[in-house]
Amino acid sequence: MAQLDTREKLEILADAAKYDASCSSSGTVKRGSKDGKGLGSTDAGMGICHAYAPDGRCISLLKILLTNSCIFDCHYCINRKSSNVRRARFTAKEVVDLTIAFYKRNYIEGLFLSSGIIASSNYTMEQMVEVARSLREDHHFRGYIHLKTIPDADPALVHQAGLHADRVSINIELPTAGGLKRLAPEKDGVRIETAMREVKAAITDGRDAKKKYKSAPTFAPAGQSTQMIVGADAATDRDIVTRASSLYDRFGLRRVYYSAFSPIPDASSVLPLQRPPLMREHRLYQSDWLMRFYDYAPAEIVAAADTSTGMLPLDIDPKLAWALKFRGSFPVDVNRAPREMLLRVPGLGTKAVAAILTSRRWRRLRLDDVARLTVSIAKVRPFIVAENWRPVVLADRADLRPLIAPKKEQLELFAA
Ligand code: SF4
Repeated sequence: MAQLDTREKLEILADAAKYDASCSSSGTVKRGSKDGKGLGSTDAGMGICHAYAPDGRCISLLKILLTNSCIFDCHYCINRKSSNVRRARFTAKEVVDLTIAFYKRNYIEGLFLSSGIIASSNYTMEQMVEVARSLREDHHFRGYIHLKTIPDADPALVHQAGLHADRVSINIELPTAGGLKRLAPEKDGVRIETAMREVKAAITDGRDAKKKYKSAPTFAPAGQSTQMIVGADAATDRDIVTRASSLYDRFGLRRVYYSAFSPIPDASSVLPLQRPPLMREHRLYQSDWLMRFYDYAPAEIVAAADTSTGMLPLDIDPKLAWALKFRGSFPVDVNRAPREMLLRVPGLGTKAVAAILTSRRWRRLRLDDVARLTVSIAKVRPFIVAENWRPVVLADRADLRPLIAPKKEQLELFAA
């Protein structure tokens, strides 16, 4: 490996980390240094802000790889052994120094650290744990740390990672076991799930211990997450939604991240030549949102997909797709319907529904009252009954979809 200075390494290793989507810093414990002890905080303060890219990814962490060298050869990965890319490697101390320097300059709120596998899974994991340990113990760093763990590593090392990091994650990589076997033959799906199960157990034990003893160590207080690549194999949206829901249920994940496959230089012939539409990734995030915050069962999301292809429509969001397919559930009376039915109305978000529930305690709501709560009353109108509104004819129209589908590319998550 050529001798590189820190700036050159940073250029290579920050660029190599951009394929990793799982970097949201939400949901950790509050920890600060206003008491004069330590350094950093997980709270957003003056001059420190959480920044999200339009696709929802957090961009205020120092997001790097320890190294982009790897002994594995996963077909979809630009860092795989057979890839012809410039390689670089940080030492644990270099990552620690960079994090502290960036934090002091207020560039970042924390660190997201992943790595290719060097020498062995255990050796790599030891280096990553050393970064987190040194930040916490040597520098009393109180900022956010997300470590991407290596499933094959000794469980004791993964446990160490959880004692220092706010969040740990293990990539499930592909939505199906067949896809993993074909595209990442050196990875073991069973081992990945075992590691996730062990992390879940450690998080639960840590929380229980904390309830009993205040001094008990915290273990990954922001939980665990995972990421799967979309569009590199033949998995349909139906497969992906079903898999994600099973992961949430079995491993208590905080987030499943979906990363649209990007074609890479010198790609293996087993990969598709084109990336999937970015809108597909967006629709999967919307489906995920519906399951987590709108009480949709996975089977309902799957029912919104095309029955023959198993794919969600790209031109309309999955909530609208479900409503158009199950028109018998509508119209919903905004003055009488329970919260769970109001949440099914396309164009009504959780805040709008909360406002409806509050307002209707005092008076009966009219269409213009609802219009004030949503950015698109045209989208809502066919699906509701209000004091002065009943959409009898509109809801039965065969051409309802083109009438209310967004005319241009729809980028917002849910109009609310
Ligand atoms: S183990 Fe990780 S870094 Fe190595 S080739 Fe596979 S995906 Fe890439």
